[in-house]
Amino acid sequence: MAKKDYYDVLGIDKSASKDEIKKAYRKLSKKYHPDINQEEGADEKFKEVSEAYETLSDDDKRAQYDRFGHEGMNQQFGGGGGFSGASGFGGFEDIFNSFFGGGGRMDPNAPRKGDDLQYTMTINFEEAVFGVTKDITIKKEVACDTCDGSGAKPGTSKKTCSMCSGVGRVAVEQNTPFGRIQTERTCPTCNGAGEEIDDPCDNCKGAGTVTENVEIEVTVPEGVDNGQQIRLQGKGEPGANGGPAGDLYIVFRVRPDSRFTRDGDDIHYELPISFAQAALGDEVKVPTLSSEIVLTIPAGTQTGKRFRLKEKGVKNVHGYGFGDQFVTVRIVTPSKLSDKEAELFRELAEHGGEEINEQNENFFEKTRRFFKGD
Ligand SMILES: [Zn+2]
Ligand SMILES: [Zn+2]
Repeated sequence: MAKKDYYDVLGIDKSASKDEIKKAYRKLSKKYHPDINQEEGADEKFKEVSEAYETLSDDDKRAQYDRFGHEGMNQQFGGGGGFSGASGFGGFEDIFNSFFGGGGRMDPNAPRKGDDLQYTMTINFEEAVFGVTKDITIKKEVACDTCDGSGAKPGTSKKTCSMCSGVGRVAVEQNTPFGRIQTERTCPTCNGAGEEIDDPCDNCKGAGTVTENVEIEVTVPEGVDNGQQIRLQGKGEPGANGGPAGDLYIVFRVRPDSRFTRDGDDIHYELPISFAQAALGDEVKVPTLSSEIVLTIPAGTQTGKRFRLKEKGVKNVHGYGFGDQFVTVRIVTPSKLSDKEAELFRELAEHGGEEINEQNENFFEKTRRFFKGD
C-alpha cells in the first residue's frame, strides 16, 4: 500500500506555514487520539497524523521530504524504520503531551476506581484479643437507584457535552511573555465527563450517586492491636465507568482493660500479695486471658519480682503463635493494723533485732483518728 502524502494526511497544502501545520495536527491528533476515538482505524489515523507532523514540523525533515518524498525519509532513518509499525516512533505521546499539557490527557470515560474510605472502630480489650464479628454503619456513596447511576432522569439520557464535544477537556489560550501558549484544561461544563445531563435525576440531582448509611459486617481478626487496620476490598465508594469500587480501611482503637495491659502479643498483670505471702510463700490464683491458673510464690519473694507464663498472651494476629503473660508481684503494705497485728509486727521486729521508733507511727495514727473522729 502506498504511503499517503504527509500534506494530504494533515489536509494542508505544500505551502502551509508552521502554524497551519501545527493547527492541523492539533485538530487531527485530538480527533483520532486512541483514548478519545474508539472507532476502528482511528489508531492508524492517529499514527499517520503524528508521523506527518513529526516530519513536517521539522524544517530539515520537511525539506528532505519535499525533495525525496517517503523514499528519502526511509533512507535517512534507516530502511523503513523510524516511523513504521506500532512500536516505532515513540514520539506520539510526547508530541501530544507537549500540546495538551502532559499528564492531563485522560479519557473521561475510562473506568476509574472508587475512593477508599476509612472507619475507626472502637472495640474492647477482649474483642481485640479473641476477635469478634460486628456490624458497623458507615455513610458512603452508592449508585442512585432511581437512575441506575446515570444521573439522567429515567426515560431521558445524557448527551455529548456541547462545550468539549465529549472530549472532557478544552483548549485554553494564554498570552505569556514567551508568546501565546495553548494548554488544555478540564471542561468546565461537564467536569471532564464528556457528557451533559439536560434533565437530571430528581433523586441524585444528576450526580448518579447518593449518600446512604450502609451496614457492613466487620470481622475483627483475633489478636488485633490498638492502631492496626484491616482492608475490606471493594467496600469503599463505587467506581466510575465500570471501574472497581474503592476499599474500606477499618482502623482499630482498643479500650484499655482493668486487669491486663498489652505490649504487642504479651500481656502484663500486676499481682498484689501481702507481706506474709511474700515472706512465707504461697499459692495464689492468677487470671489469664482464657482461665485462671495457680501461681506458686516462693518464700522470700521481693516486690517487683516478675513471673512469666509462657504462651498465655495474645494469639498473634498473623498467626505466629502466642505471646506470654507476665505477672509482676507487688507487696501491699497494710494501711491499718489491728492491735494484735501491730503487736505481732513489733514482736517480729524485735526478733529480727530491729529498733523501731514508733513515735511517728503513733503520731500518724493519732492524727488519723483525730480526722476520722474515732
Ligand atoms: Zn465538556
Ligand atoms: Zn439518580
